Amino acid sequence: MLHLIYEGELLRKDGFIVKAASSVTLITTEKHNIIVDTSTNNKENIIKSKLKELNFEPKDIDVVINTHLHYDHIENNELFENATWFASTKEPNFDSTEFKDYRFFKDDEIEIIETPGHTYGSISVIYKDYVVVGDAAPLKENIIKKIPPRLHVDRELAMKSLEKIISLNKNIVTGHDGIYYIK
Ligand SMILES: [Zn+2]
Repeated sequence: MLHLIYEGELLRKDGFIVKAASSVTLITTEKHNIIVDTSTNNKENIIKSKLKELNFEPKDIDVVINTHLHYDHIENNELFENATWFASTKEPNFDSTEFKDYRFFKDDEIEIIETPGHTYGSISVIYKDYVVVGDAAPLKENIIKKIPPRLHVDRELAMKSLEKIISLNKNIVTGHDGIYYIK
């Protein structure tokens, strides 16, 4: 199953981001209890209480996948003390003492694809009818209007990734704006 633990937030003032916290997604497969992105420190209690509602505790999580390594997607990684953290080695701040290369993560129910552009190492996680995309699509607006994330290292790459995500025809868990239901 997939549960949105926290929908994320993104507040701009005069074009500048003043508040950013990523969405947090729980995916349970036969083999793993996975959290995709862990948001910011001030969301720790929200994450814990929502997990509790679902009869989970942070220690039950054995895998954390970070869509990319911006601070607002990783600050609660430590909360999941029993988890292995996975991310792309293409992230400039990838540290192999903390993270494992996502390509070593194996689970028949999960597919991880590269969706670069926001950062060079941005990845998306596919599970059943869902794809968790991080800031390849930070807001629903990015999907609806087909506009790449405002913050990007390569606009063309970001646009291609967004098109790839939309073409999957799945419900999209955005980076900061809950789930965009495509069906
Ligand atoms: Zn980001």
